[in-house]
Amino acid sequence: MSPIWHPFTQHGLGEPIPLIDRAEGARLYDAQGNSWIDAISSWWVTTHGHAHPRIMAAIREQTEKLDQLIFAGWTHEPAEALAAELVRITPDPLTRVFFSDSGSTSVEVALKMALGYWFNIGEARSRILVMEHSYHGDTIGAMSVGERGVYNRAWQPLLFDVGTIPFPAEGREQVALDALEAACAEKPAAFIVEPLILGAGGMLIYPAWVLAEMRAICARHGVLFIADEVMTGWGRTGTRFACDQAGVIPDIVCLSKGLTGGAMPLAVTLCIEPVFEAHYSTDRAKTFYHSSSYTANPIACAAAVANLVIWRDEPVQARIDALAEAQAAHLSLLTGDARIANPRRLGTIAALDVRVRDGGYLSTLAPRLIAFYREQGVLLRPLGNSIYVMPPYCIAPDELAQVWNAIAASLDLDPSP
Ligand SMILES: *Cc1c(COP(=O)(O)O)cnc(C)c1O
Repeated sequence: MSPIWHPFTQHGLGEPIPLIDRAEGARLYDAQGNSWIDAISSWWVTTHGHAHPRIMAAIREQTEKLDQLIFAGWTHEPAEALAAELVRITPDPLTRVFFSDSGSTSVEVALKMALGYWFNIGEARSRILVMEHSYHGDTIGAMSVGERGVYNRAWQPLLFDVGTIPFPAEGREQVALDALEAACAEKPAAFIVEPLILGAGGMLIYPAWVLAEMRAICARHGVLFIADEVMTGWGRTGTRFACDQAGVIPDIVCLSKGLTGGAMPLAVTLCIEPVFEAHYSTDRAKTFYHSSSYTANPIACAAAVANLVIWRDEPVQARIDALAEAQAAHLSLLTGDARIANPRRLGTIAALDVRVRDGGYLSTLAPRLIAFYREQGVLLRPLGNSIYVMPPYCIAPDELAQVWNAIAASLDLDPSP
């Protein structure tokens, strides 16, 4: 028996855990020649497809030169090239790049930057505002700014208190905006939000004008606006970043997942000059005291530089547009089916809810669906009773059709046995 304790896995249920040998494009293969279509991009990270030749070559080349380097007080070419390119492709006010190694740590860094800013300029602001149903990661700080639920109940005594703004559901947008306005008047430090779509919260979509309005409210009150683009970044929502669709320029932005095309763990937190400026001093007490051993690992940075070359040189936007259109067509075939509710799509992400008497995250439906899809040669992982498809942009039309055929067939399962 394997000694591995897997993440988000209830070993007591004895689910089989397939052993994957290799991957290419949108497909995963085991050593026996079975294959699965990776319809959730290996948990939202793989953008251009597995083992993209340019990214693999960049990694190979970098391993010949420099594997790892202390990043406090030292630097290297892949990090410099990546940071310069990130500043170039993001809006002008975002001028500084802080490296870390996962989405959760990029969020921790964002929160620490925000509080460090207020502390260093001598204003007592420390409260964080969040949106209902949000997810920002699984470390203690990231959990604190995320939705409380069954998946973090044991640790709630450790989580810090936050102000929660209601999700701007259709028809309730003004309620959410008014709540943000009122909360901002009490001088919080920052508002952190997943732009346009809440991922782990169930692929909940809200309109760009609401995001723009929320950003304007924060600006009026001097509240730092943190965009967590860990999932939404790198084309998922139809544009390179979700904020682009709303014309929103955040004060701080978190990027990870697709930053390396999904090949290596890496994250960045970008910020506006005043946040950096507040830490810039001859006084060492104002230093931004945050690091992890693998900060800006050169091999991961080389993979990210290759990702940016792909964005520059390949028709990435055209692939995203084509995938978005195909997703819309598949989703429309199920729209009106009495067994589903809330069909929705944003860019390349499509989702729907299975009508079920006993929904919620612990619904027995999700594990049965996952097993069903696995047998159909498809990797899908519904969130409770919400099924979503978020494939790599290289997925072939027949592969995408296989995914949606499996979803259609799964609707014949008894939703609440
Ligand atoms: C996945 C995710 C995170 C956490 O990223 P990890 O790399 O898993 O730590 C944070 N925020 C959002 C919006 C995410 O989807």
